Amino acid sequence: MRSGKEHHDVVIVGGGICGLATALALHRIQEVWHRKSAMQVKSTRIEEFRCLKRTDLIQALFDNLPVDSVRLGCQIVAVERDPSTSFPILYVHDGIIIKAKVLIGCDGSNSVISKSLGLGSLNSLPNCVIRGLTNYPNGHNLKSRFLRHLDGYMAFGRIPIDDNLVHWFVDWPYPNRDIDAPKDPKFLMELAMQQIKDYPAEMIEMVKSSDPSSLNLTRIRYRSPWHLVFGNFRRGTMTVAGDAMHMMGPFLGQGGCVAMEDAVVLARNLAQAMPMGLEGGRVGDGELKKRIETALENYVRERKPRVLKLAMQSMLVGILISSSSKIKRLLSLALLLVFFGGASLSYTRYDCGPL
Ligand SMILES: Cc1cc2nc3c(=O)[nH]c(=O)nc-3n(C[C@H](O)[C@H](O)[C@H](O)COP(=O)(O)OP(=O)(O)OC[C@H]3O[C@@H](n4cnc5c(N)ncnc54)[C@H](O)[C@@H]3O)c2cc1C
Repeated sequence: MRSGKEHHDVVIVGGGICGLATALALHRIQEVWHRKSAMQVKSTRIEEFRCLKRTDLIQALFDNLPVDSVRLGCQIVAVERDPSTSFPILYVHDGIIIKAKVLIGCDGSNSVISKSLGLGSLNSLPNCVIRGLTNYPNGHNLKSRFLRHLDGYMAFGRIPIDDNLVHWFVDWPYPNRDIDAPKDPKFLMELAMQQIKDYPAEMIEMVKSSDPSSLNLTRIRYRSPWHLVFGNFRRGTMTVAGDAMHMMGPFLGQGGCVAMEDAVVLARNLAQAMPMGLEGGRVGDGELKKRIETALENYVRERKPRVLKLAMQSMLVGILISSSSKIKRLLSLALLLVFFGGASLSYTRYDCGPL
């Protein structure tokens, strides 16, 4: 067990899509602070489905970060506020204590930071998803289209990633919700095959030929929209982003995208509140704290309507697919038609603004 104290300006907990994107956005902002130039990173609007391998996205974000800004294998076990300065203190599994001026919790669905903010626990749907990747060495000849087939309580879909690789998923009510999600690839393959046994041979072959190491079963959990309305997403200079803030079911395929929007909006608000940077302004701790709090408050205010709308839409699609109650399904369909234009993809046209 190590011991010791460290001091950092900004600590981001979590090295998933959100944590790495937030780190990158803050580094881009810091470059502007240092160069004092007016760098603008414009967000672009591309209206198309594009499938990326999660590991490629994570690697691309990671590769663009300075090596010394990332610490691997660091598990945060608790956080609290420093009674004298009110800045956050983090406790690491190996005994290290980290004092930070800004703490951003991007630690996903079981977030320690969300818990310390008092956010309620996540809800779960009866469904789970098995995902896999299938490689076609001579090309798959599929159109670059997202295909999803709904069949009662089950959904089966696929989307090509490139000319050789196809991502597929099966989503259905999974009865054994009390045990740990199984990981054995052979078992997962059999489970997936059972669900699609009546599908065309081409689909069955795709699942059968998938890379066993890519198979993964996930239970579907989400933060309820009411938690998003009433939840407290900031305390002092501590906040959350990504799934730690707004975990949603995968029905719209937007969780990772909104996590990257969070990163841009958070970095922009911090930059606007402190144009000279955390240290560059040479302001006292009290003034610094006030400015960070304002920036984080503005960030939360800006993100709430966006994530609330997505969370509502995703929850309604989830109920429509998975609920055993006909009334609930009809009600969900009606609400989707009235408030979200049915199967409209308008949520993909959101612009979170430049960095
Ligand atoms: C089946 C499925 C399909 C999906 N499809 C899509 C899609 O098509 N498009 C899309 O945009 N999104 C999709 N999503 C959602 C997307 O995967 C998530 O929203 C996204 O990964 C969230 O990123 P995150 O960084 O917030 O959290 P995570 O990816 O969960 O990362 C959290 C990180 O924090 C670390 N961590 C956790 N606790 C601690 C701790 N105490 N101390 C230190 N580190 C910690 C973890 O190790 C992890 O690295 C899908 C999700 C599922 C389940």
